[in-house]
Amino acid sequence: MADNARFHFASCNRRRFLAAGSALALWPFHRLPNCSAADRTTRLGGYPFQLGVASGDPTPDGMVLWTRLCVDPFGGAELPPEDVQVEWQVAEDEAMTHVVRKGVATAPHDWAHSVHVEVEGLKPDWTYFYQFKTGMETSPVGRTRTAPALDALRDSFRFAFASCQKFEEGHYTAYEHMLKDDLHAVVHLGDYIYEGVPKANTPRHYTGPRIKTLEDFRTRHAVYRSDPHLQAVHAAFPWLVTWDDHEVENNYAADISQYAPAVRQEEFLTLRANAYKAYYEHMPLRASALPRGPHMDLYRNVRFGRLIDISVLDTRQYRSDQPCGDGYGVPCEAVYDPQATLLGVEQEEWLKKQLLDSPCLWKVMAQQVIMAQVNFDPGTETVFSMDKWSGYDVPRRRLMQFLEDHAVRNAVTLTGDVHCNWVNDLKVDYNDPGAPTLGTEFVGTSITSRGDGAETRSTTEGMLANNPAVKFFNDERGYVRCEVTPQTWRTDFRTVEYVSRPGAPCRTRASFVVESGRPGAERA
Ligand code: FE
Ligand code: CA
Repeated sequence: MADNARFHFASCNRRRFLAAGSALALWPFHRLPNCSAADRTTRLGGYPFQLGVASGDPTPDGMVLWTRLCVDPFGGAELPPEDVQVEWQVAEDEAMTHVVRKGVATAPHDWAHSVHVEVEGLKPDWTYFYQFKTGMETSPVGRTRTAPALDALRDSFRFAFASCQKFEEGHYTAYEHMLKDDLHAVVHLGDYIYEGVPKANTPRHYTGPRIKTLEDFRTRHAVYRSDPHLQAVHAAFPWLVTWDDHEVENNYAADISQYAPAVRQEEFLTLRANAYKAYYEHMPLRASALPRGPHMDLYRNVRFGRLIDISVLDTRQYRSDQPCGDGYGVPCEAVYDPQATLLGVEQEEWLKKQLLDSPCLWKVMAQQVIMAQVNFDPGTETVFSMDKWSGYDVPRRRLMQFLEDHAVRNAVTLTGDVHCNWVNDLKVDYNDPGAPTLGTEFVGTSITSRGDGAETRSTTEGMLANNPAVKFFNDERGYVRCEVTPQTWRTDFRTVEYVSRPGAPCRTRASFVVESGRPGAERA
């Protein structure tokens, strides 16, 4: 769809985006009054829509619309300490002439002047456009789409998924290419920001501490969100977002810091509350996800008619501590702890109910860490990553056994975290060569994290030989694109040649297909 690459901004924003070297086509906005440079600087101290717009979590009659007023993404200038009223409108056309819904929302000072509007009353399976305005200042126009009616069966649903976008490690070229795809949704599986001190000698730079305070987390999100390619993809498609560890702290587990016991539980929960609040403030999430101190209900199911539903999971907030240390190692006794949990009791029961009750042809688990049992050793040892499902053997088997016992058809898992591409068979017992394949896992590589990639690592050949259930491995950066039909699931691994400088070409490195009713992917 040629239209995907075209964005229409209010004319007062024109110079900004041209100056940024954006290739996006621009179009005069003629519905809301244009602003002058003088207007822009008087009221809020600068142009307030510098973080762009976003939409998310579509239903058959609506979605969430998001923006956050921010005049200085890299810190410094702040908005006045008061709530700000923001007008919003939804139209059927890009020029915003056929407005079908509108209202006024509050951008609360206490919530970093973020705006979350839950729109209702729209037509199912329909493209809409939206825009915000405060004072004389208008936001870019975003495009979004409602989900199909619950009883509708689309003949095709297309989405992309992404994860791990460490800002300083590279350019968001993968998003530049994703923007050109004709998608119904984008799924982000976490590591949206990274909490550490930015490294020196990296392709992109900003300064900051290892983030702990609410202000730190807000500034970090704003820096990431200042990227024009990331903003453009947020403005082009509705997103389904979930977090991994780095939105809070590397490899944390529930209320346990990776620095425990040096960092005590109360101290870590204060940090977690700051991180969760800033995450909510920057994402197109519903009020059902409003954080309460260090708690936030992020797991949910988003359904697209009868074709596909996506259970968006949270494998961080409720998990038991990683066994045998946080890293990679030979499995010790604690890997087989019957009390261990990765989802927590409530979420696991909820997920099983989603899988059992789903009327959809494809049932997706969108989550963080590799679900298949993987031996990372290229030689004769057995090495698990203790942060992934392999380190949580009892809950991993329990979920797989559930798929088998209840003959859950067409289960597909989407995974991020590990900064490389994989295709894995999902099984209960990986040591039994005759164990049936119960579902399919697609692991997507990072947008930038780990920097420029290569097809393989020195250990790839040996590792693949140790893991017959792994069908594909690739260590380039990029994103993953899926086309789902009633008969077939097709996954394209889209990779960019480099991220250390902008402008890399993107290619489909490999494609895999799952036939409905036949778990396990085959190379297309
Ligand atoms: Fe990551
Ligand atoms: Ca991670």
